[in-house]
Amino acid sequence: MITFDELGIKSELLNAIHDLGFEKLMPVQAEVIPILLYEKCDLVALAQTGTGKTATFGIPIIQELNLSNKDTEALILSPTRELCVQIANDLSSYAKYISSATVVPVYGGASIETQIRNIKKGAKIIVATPGRMLDLIRRKVINISNIKVAVLDEADEMLSMGFQEELNSILDETPSDKFTWLFSATMPAEIERIARGYMKEPRIITIGSRNSGTENVKHYYYLVHAKDRYLALKRIADYYPNIYAIIFCRTKMETQEVADLLIKDGYNADALHGDLSQAQRDHVMNKFRSKALQMLVATDVAARGLDVYNLTHVINYNLPDEIEQYTHRSGRTGRADKQGISIAIINLKEKYRIKRIEDIIQRKFEKANIPTGKEVCYKQLFHIIDNMEHVDMSNETEIDEFLPKILKKLEWLSKEDIIKRFVGVEFNRFIEYYRNAPDLNVQEKSDRSESKQRRQNSGYEKVSRHNDKYATGKYSSGSSGDKRNNSGDDTDNRKKRKNTGGKKNGKTEFAVIKLNLGRKTGTVPQRIIGVLNDTVNNRDMKIGHIEILDNYSLIEVDAKYLNDIFDAFEYRSDNRYKVEYVGSSKK
Ligand code: AMP
Repeated sequence: MITFDELGIKSELLNAIHDLGFEKLMPVQAEVIPILLYEKCDLVALAQTGTGKTATFGIPIIQELNLSNKDTEALILSPTRELCVQIANDLSSYAKYISSATVVPVYGGASIETQIRNIKKGAKIIVATPGRMLDLIRRKVINISNIKVAVLDEADEMLSMGFQEELNSILDETPSDKFTWLFSATMPAEIERIARGYMKEPRIITIGSRNSGTENVKHYYYLVHAKDRYLALKRIADYYPNIYAIIFCRTKMETQEVADLLIKDGYNADALHGDLSQAQRDHVMNKFRSKALQMLVATDVAARGLDVYNLTHVINYNLPDEIEQYTHRSGRTGRADKQGISIAIINLKEKYRIKRIEDIIQRKFEKANIPTGKEVCYKQLFHIIDNMEHVDMSNETEIDEFLPKILKKLEWLSKEDIIKRFVGVEFNRFIEYYRNAPDLNVQEKSDRSESKQRRQNSGYEKVSRHNDKYATGKYSSGSSGDKRNNSGDDTDNRKKRKNTGGKKNGKTEFAVIKLNLGRKTGTVPQRIIGVLNDTVNNRDMKIGHIEILDNYSLIEVDAKYLNDIFDAFEYRSDNRYKVEYVGSSKK
């Protein structure tokens, strides 16, 4: 992999880059910087946001500046104020050892007089939003007739925000012999038109596959009635206690409404949209960046300036009007080799839009089920217990001081009662809320056949034929399996279930799965049960015989929940466990 030292750039630039701690070039940089430095041509680069684009155009621009005069030599246009400021800050840090390489950001919503003063002091590089740039051109305070490079950053965004005319007017003021470098996450037809209209034989570079969703992102849709959209969102938020997500809405009004509801319902959420003042927006963005806020409800436009990519989830509360916008949204998660999840909450009428997105991103969505109230409670309960296990005990000695009195006060309670009460303090609101919670999922006609098809595609049937020993072998013992939870209502619930597909002659039909937890890592049956409980969250599922071998375990599980088990393991974001289907275990 090429290093910055090998690029042949000025030592001042190199030193500044080293100061930033950049060692290797990111893929878009490795591919594009040498072209911009040495081929000197027009360029269209298709790359997602957050991939290192700023340095990609910034380094060649700074390297080539003629510092013997004060003429403006580079113009960078960006869709939002936040991105504009961010780019200007980044460029200034690359140019920090070259004092005459001045960078001036100009954008709407801030004092134009101050910006004019800054320009007059000298601006070798101007970073601008299109509207303010045009205003400054009309006021004749900016001269871009001698620029060498025009960069259109996030060009697809600028177009979808309606800046086409401003872009045309601005580019008309630039010399025809300049270079034009266009960066975009997607390649809608309008971008191709710009490339044809304003560029000379541009090199077209695609980083990753064209218009594709990020590799590390899994795409799920939840099918609900339109009226249940908000309830579905709440369930998803409750099911992921550590959620750190942007919830995308279509309009400013919807954004505010959803945020208000979440706040009212006690969630750590806030709104970000264009009707807020700049100070309010900055405040919300800072809270979210610092993770003081777990859920940000935002419009696409307002979220553009937010450089946060390490989200656990991107939630499409409503799908974007422009399908291509979905790529921008989902690209905010699944960064730096982490698994990300992009969720769309849709109703039946919107199902066709999922198919269109699949065509664009060349990735398949999976249908996921909104967790039941019981599943949410289960997840929350173990989250609370997990927090308790990992609580910071550095104040233990101070607690010890009170312990005798506490113990005395709780003398009348058994250990079990105490645990129940401590858990209840946090957990009761979930139990209350989710008692009698309805199933929010809308079933598609094709659900049953799809699920069967999926099993066939993933080779389940094939495997079972090749593992017939399990149909008659040791797993055919008469064991009816351990009940995972000994809370009394389980049996009743099972009786209530209409679907008895996993039972034969009243006995549970088991399937055998292989899990990558073995004796060598100290696995005991309780751990296996714990992992299954934690992952699958289905209290009705029975577990049968568990055999722990050196490197893995073979586990009998309720055959009727096989799909749920595989889905649940696949859905885990940590990818710690591997499950495989081994075969049926007929009783
Ligand atoms: P950008 O797409 O320009 O917003 O860059 C995304 C992030 O990657 C920013 O935080 C940059 O500072 C950082 N970055 C850019 N290039 C490199 C590099 N070569 N090595 C490490 N980090 C980088």
